[in-house]
Amino acid sequence: MADSKTSIDSQSRDAETDATLRLEGIKKSYKIGKSGEVEVLHGIDLVLGRGEFVALIGPSGSGKSTLLNLIGLLDKASSGLMFLTGIATENLDDRALTKLRADAIGFVFQFHHLLPAFTAVENVMLPLLAKQGRPDDAMRKRAAELIDKVGLRALANNMANNLSGGQQQRVAIARSLIMQPALVLADEPTGNLDTKSADSVFDLMREVCDTSGTTFLIVTHDPRLAQRCDRIIELVDGLIASDKKNTQVLTKGDDSPLPVAQRAAT
Ligand code: ADP
Ligand code: MG
Repeated sequence: MADSKTSIDSQSRDAETDATLRLEGIKKSYKIGKSGEVEVLHGIDLVLGRGEFVALIGPSGSGKSTLLNLIGLLDKASSGLMFLTGIATENLDDRALTKLRADAIGFVFQFHHLLPAFTAVENVMLPLLAKQGRPDDAMRKRAAELIDKVGLRALANNMANNLSGGQQQRVAIARSLIMQPALVLADEPTGNLDTKSADSVFDLMREVCDTSGTTFLIVTHDPRLAQRCDRIIELVDGLIASDKKNTQVLTKGDDSPLPVAQRAAT
């Protein structure tokens, strides 16, 4: 555990570096049976800057989902420090954690968890509705804008269960953005989509990242999709095995790599 001085030092560092996320020595153990424990993350150090578009790859069982759940404040680390938008998380109570999660983080899962009997636009409104208690015009307007942004204007009032898998994942992305989070965490967001839908969902996340400054951390099994990210972090056996800037970023539904400088110019 850190003393308060360490936390303050780390916070001022984040103000300087504009870090969205900082992890220091994060470890996670799960209880197994009555008395056993197994450590699955063995000390993760990681900084994600504002507006980074990052892939998290690694073999099944390497700890990717565990790490995302910790970063998403859905679970607690066994030890280590975490700063989200400069805020130290280790001493926050449940209420403060819930607030920080709602304010700072958007989630996109493989299975989108939409409410099937609600329309697309209502699903997008839900996180804001949970916060404000009742719908208002500003909320409806913001949800409609996001539905537009993800290319679903014509389907805004369709029930979620009448949409295709790719369309539902677009709704999930719109929903993840309604609180204007600093960080979107996506765990295999295209895992159950065909190649074309996966490409367009990735294009959409990229566009949101480029236009809003939102940081994305995306777990993917697909090396082709990882190549669309600016940075590729590989987790192996609960440790970061590599963390590389991707200099051959693939763009928009395109399989020919472009050097970064050229991508910026197109
Ligand atoms: P990945 O997402 O990379 O496939 P996970 O984070 O799901 O990996 O799992 C990492 C390791 O932690 C695996 O060995 C898995 O069996 C174990 N694990 C995950 N969740 C739990 C849990 N709730 N209880 C016990 N072990 C778990
Ligand atoms: Mg997983």
